[in-house]
Amino acid sequence: MTLIASPNLVETEELTTPFDIIVVGSGAAGLYAALCLPTHYRIGLITKDTLKTGASDWAQGGIAAAIAPDDSPVFHREDTLKAGAGLCDQNAVQFLVDNAGTTIESLVNMGVAFDRKGEQLAMTLEAAHSHARVLHAADTTGRAIIATLTEKVIQCPNITILPQAIALQLWIDPQQKSCQGLSVLYQGQINWIQAGAVILATGGGGQVYAQTTNPTVSTGDGVALAWRAGAIVRDLEFFQFHPTALTKPGAPHFLISEAVRGEGAHLVDEQGKRFAFDYDPRGELAPRDVVSRAIFDYLQTQQVGPNQAHVYLDLRPIETEQIRRRFPNIIRVCQKWGIDVFKEPIPVAPAAHYWMGGVKVDSNNATSIPGLYAIGETASTGVHGANRLASNSLLECLVFAAQLSNLKVTTPSPIANQSQLLIDNQEDWEAEMAQIQDIRRNLPILIWESAGISRQKAKLEAAIGRVNQWQEQLRAFTLSKPIVKLVPNQSVKFKQITAQFQLRCCSETLNLLDIGYLMLKSALFRTESRGGHYREDFPQPSQQWENHTLICGDRWHKGEIS
Ligand SMILES: Cc1cc2nc3c(=O)[nH]c(=O)nc-3n(C[C@H](O)[C@H](O)[C@H](O)COP(=O)(O)OP(=O)(O)OC[C@H]3O[C@@H](n4cnc5c(N)ncnc54)[C@H](O)[C@@H]3O)c2cc1C
Repeated sequence: MTLIASPNLVETEELTTPFDIIVVGSGAAGLYAALCLPTHYRIGLITKDTLKTGASDWAQGGIAAAIAPDDSPVFHREDTLKAGAGLCDQNAVQFLVDNAGTTIESLVNMGVAFDRKGEQLAMTLEAAHSHARVLHAADTTGRAIIATLTEKVIQCPNITILPQAIALQLWIDPQQKSCQGLSVLYQGQINWIQAGAVILATGGGGQVYAQTTNPTVSTGDGVALAWRAGAIVRDLEFFQFHPTALTKPGAPHFLISEAVRGEGAHLVDEQGKRFAFDYDPRGELAPRDVVSRAIFDYLQTQQVGPNQAHVYLDLRPIETEQIRRRFPNIIRVCQKWGIDVFKEPIPVAPAAHYWMGGVKVDSNNATSIPGLYAIGETASTGVHGANRLASNSLLECLVFAAQLSNLKVTTPSPIANQSQLLIDNQEDWEAEMAQIQDIRRNLPILIWESAGISRQKAKLEAAIGRVNQWQEQLRAFTLSKPIVKLVPNQSVKFKQITAQFQLRCCSETLNLLDIGYLMLKSALFRTESRGGHYREDFPQPSQQWENHTLICGDRWHKGEIS
């Protein structure tokens, strides 16, 4: 497949005609939404990189669905609620588990080749699931799903794809207070694109942490854009840390799936001791947050620098053939980084993995701004509560995206004569870029140390102060003006081709600063520990905090669980 040859790509001139619907993001949520939306609508699919770049393509373990004869949505619901530690919205969970079966059926009909046991779909057990209900395609389940969805999207004549197009700012009508489009950086220009509805499917925000399993595109853009436009965002303090990401100098924090421990791998220290049992009787099979904290605490007791800090995951207790069959991609990636999993343990440490919070939506994916919708990891549907049950996120992306098949929109009339500004004084940007890149390097370290696995008041307050300074500094730069201050109806053309890279870097850093700020303040606001949020100074859950954390502008308050 070559994208350039695809018939549904677009030239910048065509962007002046309003779309019925714009979908931002081409992960599982964005692609499936584009396919489920009524076909009489003209849909624009905007994506920051290539169509397949995103966390969905990297998903390994699988997708949960209670479809085995001995399983039931009732059990799936119970497991999800338990993992969510009191903060799940019951109706959202019910909707998720009830619609899992039809979603899997739809994927199989589209051609997703899940592993099979004889004629039947193969299902595995993952931590905190009471039944074996995780469907998989070896250890590259996400890739199997995304490859199929991408192929289908490319064939749809009503979907226009804009790759390497970055959503910068939402267009909110000042009278109606509704969303009627957005500004997009595409082919070295910024244009406003009108639409009857905008659907944010920009994924998570793991890049705000120095150690993350997330791809580089996961910079929390959807949450930042929605928050800046005035939408209510929710539960942003809840971040899931995966206990076992590859930790080797120069290598990415590649995820070593939970399924590896499920199959019998041991988590050990330098001396081969299975230290996880010192923290929890379930050892390495305790929930993710428990194992992550055990590793974090254990490493605190060791005299090693933060970058060398790791323990080991030893796959050798698993039968060789089983490793080969179940984890071909893990074998391959480890081999690339000089680790032979059959002969030596893998160095691992916890890394930021999944953001439970997001843009608050109702059961139809509508945000608090009319015309603006959010799906996938960007959204807070209420399904995950304070902690996500493994393999529920791909399911959430698809089940909720399918809801959009009922979406009705009114397409705005085109606004005539967009005036175009030519910017040719980009020399000033070089000095600003150096500072932006400096912030981009240092922010994730600050957030990892202050809003990581273990949090406390003094560090959170100090980090908020630092982030506020960076926010002010960056907003004063000329580079950030066309990103956050451009008036609808005005487009900008840049003389030098470096603009695309510079503006993307600036826009992502602005977004990372905003989500970093929101996470820090939310973590400070919640004076208890629950799910993916752990406060050293408030180590227990509190009944007074059985609430959502709602943010609107600069106001934080508690919201009821429904
Ligand atoms: C390594 C890894 C393994 C995982 N394994 C599993 C698993 O086994 N099972 C499971 O259920 N979940 C798993 N997860 C979680 C799951 O993959 C994600 O939660 C889910 O895929 C998110 O899908 P999404 O469509 O919301 O976002 P993504 O798939 O991340 O897609 C986001 C899209 O938005 C685009 N984008 C972002 N910002 C902009 C912008 N400003 N303008 C334009 N486009 C933009 C990106 O380019 C991308 O196309 C895993 C996650 C990771 C990182």
